[in-house]
Amino acid sequence: MRVLIISDIHANLAALEAVLAASDLAENGHYDAVWCLGDLVGYGPNPNECVERVRSLPNLVCLMGNHDKAVLDETSIEVFNADARAALYWTRSVATSETIAFLRALPEIAQLGEFTLVHGSPRQPVWEYILDRSVAQEVLTMGETPYCLVGHTHVPIIYGMTAPENLCAVEMPDYMHPRKLQAKSRGERLIINPGSVGQPRDNNANAAYAMLDIEAQEWEFCRVFYNVELTQNRMRAIGLPNRLIARLAYGW
Ligand code: ZN
Repeated sequence: MRVLIISDIHANLAALEAVLAASDLAENGHYDAVWCLGDLVGYGPNPNECVERVRSLPNLVCLMGNHDKAVLDETSIEVFNADARAALYWTRSVATSETIAFLRALPEIAQLGEFTLVHGSPRQPVWEYILDRSVAQEVLTMGETPYCLVGHTHVPIIYGMTAPENLCAVEMPDYMHPRKLQAKSRGERLIINPGSVGQPRDNNANAAYAMLDIEAQEWEFCRVFYNVELTQNRMRAIGLPNRLIARLAYGW
């Protein structure tokens, strides 16, 4: 089974469409299922369209992100910065009842075979950021499955730990080469973040996603160009904060 892994779409329909088109190409291989690690909405201009598109994808497993939760729950909006809050209030004002119902039904954690799926981390599924090796090491040590897929930081990365040393190491994406997953052969445990579809934060403006081949035990980081200006123009027309519009152009 080939799984398309997406996360942090953030209502960026142009980026989402580019990822879906690229992952449909024969050379890149088709997918049988889609795992989405949360934050469908927030920041961007097309929340309802993105929810509608994602919910139509085959064999979808979709997790709850902190922005998804904030659209449902007024009290959690307060923890966001002013720009994020402004976008969340706008999102709430336009969210359809179908969008709200879909977001409300999202689980905070899912376990699928050897994979745990969360937006943040297994111990705080919606809110915790895994931003450094010390946090990653704690999470890897407590994990119930060898692989944990996370989003939330918008940075594609792998944190890995291999027995018997069990020291956490960092791997940056190698876009041209699928990486073998070696839980069985080498006893490794990994936290993998595919990066963000709709608001990358690694100085690369292209949309990030990943392909997982479960039979072959291979993970592949992918990037695809999308029309950033189209999304920026839509944001400008709505009056979303300038900083959120500008950051898309430089991937931060
Ligand atoms: Zn996010």
